[in-house]
Amino acid sequence: MTNLLDVQNARRTFPRSGGEELLVLDDVNLTMKQGEIVGLLGRSGSGKSTLLRLIAGLARPQGGSLSYMGAPIEGPVQGVAMVFQGFALFPWMTVLENVQLGLEALGLPQAEIRARALAAIDLIGLDGYESAYPRELSGGMRQRVGFARAVVVHPSILLMDEPFSALDVLTAENLRTDLIELWGNGKLPIKGILLVTHNIEEAVLMCDRVLLMTSNPGRISSEIKIDLPQPRDRTSAPFEDYVDQIYVEMTARRVERMRAITGTTGIEMPLTHVSPNQVAGLIEALAAMPYDGKADLPDIAYEQELEVDELFPVAEAMQLLRLAEVEGGDIKLTHMGKRFADADLNERKEIFSRALMSHVPLAAHIRKVLDERKSHSAPKTRFLDELEDHMAEDAAEDTLKTVVSWARFGELFSYDDDAAAFSLENPT
Ligand code: ADP
Ligand code: MG
Repeated sequence: MTNLLDVQNARRTFPRSGGEELLVLDDVNLTMKQGEIVGLLGRSGSGKSTLLRLIAGLARPQGGSLSYMGAPIEGPVQGVAMVFQGFALFPWMTVLENVQLGLEALGLPQAEIRARALAAIDLIGLDGYESAYPRELSGGMRQRVGFARAVVVHPSILLMDEPFSALDVLTAENLRTDLIELWGNGKLPIKGILLVTHNIEEAVLMCDRVLLMTSNPGRISSEIKIDLPQPRDRTSAPFEDYVDQIYVEMTARRVERMRAITGTTGIEMPLTHVSPNQVAGLIEALAAMPYDGKADLPDIAYEQELEVDELFPVAEAMQLLRLAEVEGGDIKLTHMGKRFADADLNERKEIFSRALMSHVPLAAHIRKVLDERKSHSAPKTRFLDELEDHMAEDAAEDTLKTVVSWARFGELFSYDDDAAAFSLENPT
């Protein structure tokens, strides 16, 4: 049978200010068959939304090929519909009008448009809300409208871009359960679902296969088949095993990448924003019982109520500063990490400052420039321009913001937001 979707060696770049290119997707391969829910799991910024836009035909790749039911994707595809994280409803239209919108382009008779929209509204649990406006609905109900609008066109492929992440925990879970039930009963007029998420448990709960995506550039690094019947039980041992396995694979790759990056001269290493408080918090939790310096990542994430997107950058920062090591699915405090846990605030600042000088080349670089200048100050642009030679503008901003907050804690240098300038309070 023809695949619903084939993506081969897809590559996508975006232009950057300096005339260079940012490689967002590189050599991405994926296929979808009829009857599958496929998960695409990756951190924010890894290129998931970009890939979905290519699949929907809303953007074109610079390399590789995409095809839908065997035919090349060269523009918006009729059989592909999308559900967005932010719902993307028109506030001035009623629920019915928002749902009908999906059908206007198909050129159907008005009576059929209305009948199909009403059926989709009914199916998705919005019966009685046809004439309500989005502002009158809760977040969960609004996303149901988002689903109805996508489903109403009877797409072969439903693309979902983090559809539950703007919802509270309970609402999200209800919507997931309803969706899986409709899918399982064969009530959805859809042949396959591609679900983008950064939530490991959500992927294990809903998907037949999960594709793991790396960042910078975005690539699909592995695939995990979830061999569990629906409905799935989050608390069952096999479910937890899958979650663990994915954690391990995701951290293993992060560690490899960190090693590769820190082997370079280093200023070009993008830093994800993590506050010293978050680092201190995780170190304290790790040092305390029952962990005593070492924990299973999924366990400590759960205990600290952190999602992958939040935990990984913190674990990564700790690794970079050599306050902890990550191996397999475990995180373990180093000798210095243990000292940090036991230290008072002043000693903590000292440990942090030394770690910055030794292990964060950008921090050491900024300090050196400030030391060498007579004024002991430098405008932000001095370093922003330098970073933008190596990374996208927003990554450069983030990296600088991160190094500023770390340096403030370690009292390595200071930064004045109003003047947009770095300076030294205690030049050597
Ligand atoms: P995700 O959905 O996984 O969070 P995105 O696909 O939204 O990731 O973005 C991946 C990277 O591509 C980011 O670094 C983002 O800044 C960049 N990017 C996305 N769209 C554009 C665009 N239109 N122009 C420039 N850069 C973009
Ligand atoms: Mg996205």
